[in-house]
Amino acid sequence: MTVAAVILLAAAVWIGSLYLRPFGRCPRCHGQGHVRTCKGLRRAQRLGSRTVHRLARSIRAEAERTRQQRATSASREDQP
Ligand SMILES: [Zn+2]
Repeated sequence: MTVAAVILLAAAVWIGSLYLRPFGRCPRCHGQGHVRTCKGLRRAQRLGSRTVHRLARSIRAEAERTRQQRATSASREDQP
């Protein structure tokens, strides 16, 4: 495996983990809940997780749009 493939794989794993687990242990209080910034939740949204979810949403929306367009054009072909 080349270095580029390893980096690409690591990025894919990281993005996948961001998507599946958008929240991680709060980095400020290390999961102790002492710091007011996480309001005692002991969790914090991981950096980039919002971007990953927004991207996934836009990809899904685009796929849905393509599917609907195909369905519309197919029904048009049925008409005389
Ligand atoms: Zn905290």
